[in-house]
Amino acid sequence: MRKLLSANKALRQSQTKLRKLNNELEERVENRTWALSESEARFRAMAEGTDILIVVADETSKVIYFNKAWERLTGRSAQTLLSSGWVDLVHPEDKDHYVSTYLNALKDKLPFTGEFRIKSKDGEYHWLLAKVPARFRQDGTFAGYIGSCVDITALKEEEQRKDDFISIASHELKTPLTSLKASLQLMTEVKNDPSPKLLHKLIRQSNVSVIKMTALVDDLLNANRANEGQLHINKLNFRIAEVLGSCCNEIRVGGNHDLIVIGDKQLEVYGDENRIEQVLVNMVNNAAKYAPGSRNIYLITEKIGDMAKISVKDNGPGIDAERIPYLFDRYYRADYAGNQYSGLGLGLYISAEIVKRHGGDIGVESEPGKGSTFWFTLPVA
Ligand code: ADP
Repeated sequence: MRKLLSANKALRQSQTKLRKLNNELEERVENRTWALSESEARFRAMAEGTDILIVVADETSKVIYFNKAWERLTGRSAQTLLSSGWVDLVHPEDKDHYVSTYLNALKDKLPFTGEFRIKSKDGEYHWLLAKVPARFRQDGTFAGYIGSCVDITALKEEEQRKDDFISIASHELKTPLTSLKASLQLMTEVKNDPSPKLLHKLIRQSNVSVIKMTALVDDLLNANRANEGQLHINKLNFRIAEVLGSCCNEIRVGGNHDLIVIGDKQLEVYGDENRIEQVLVNMVNNAAKYAPGSRNIYLITEKIGDMAKISVKDNGPGIDAERIPYLFDRYYRADYAGNQYSGLGLGLYISAEIVKRHGGDIGVESEPGKGSTFWFTLPVA
């Protein structure tokens, strides 16, 4: 009987232990499930809230997940993306390279990266940079890929603008350099018996080339300084009409244009005279360059409140409304009438930076066929 009692007690004890163990196990499973769903929720919140395009593929290379960024870019629902894919949206020039990079990586279960263009819902191509690490389970078996793609279109465009700019700048510098080289070559040939007339002409030509190159290099340096906020400005009071009356001598003696100064001769402004002259010279040179048929170029001063407004007005071809907002951007050239005008697209950018440093505004009023008026304001003295 005692034996039976003790066996019964042992049984109850082991039952209690078992129950305890079972409860612990249930609690652990519950905790694990909670942790899993918490981790899943965290992943979803992270993946759905980002602009990075995330895609998950299983070991058979079947895609099992696209985040919202894919829907936003392609205009296809996640469901459509899952059933019909997205590779048809890759730019025809990039598709073969992307697909072969992917297949090569998949063969050896390796990570891969790539850049390619993809058609967005508005029909424009966007550049994506894809980084795709391989995923492995705890037991080391291959589980597929998680790819993340970043939109690098703006970066690519900036790269392109820089490339274009370097090519334009080199071309612009090469033209006066070639002409200087030709003048020097001729001078070398006639050095023992030069006619004064020819010598005079060659020296003049060389000077013109050197002035052109200096102006280009100055523009490059100034644009760089302006971009880094390091344009040096030395402000004093001076009469603006005096600068208007004495600037741009090459244009005055060139004989193709008359510079007509209008407005208050006594108006004094507070600014850096050399820098303001630079702005004026650029506007007048532009008027002569882009409005060659405009005989008169007007330089107008007005006092508006405590600001002086200086305008340079031509009767040239004018500028299309859609190009106007970009004229003061770095490297921007409206490319009016093809490529016949040389320039770096820096003059108005530098001018805008100079005027900004004076606390003034800069702008343009122009209409095709009705000429252009470029203007800027400065504080009066
Ligand atoms: P660049 O003359 O080197 O191109 P700018 O920054 O001085 O650079 O001018 C930017 C663009 O503005 C020019 O490429 C030209 O298309 C346009 N532009 C400037 N001034 C005039 C003007 N008076 N008439 C027509 N277009 C102009």
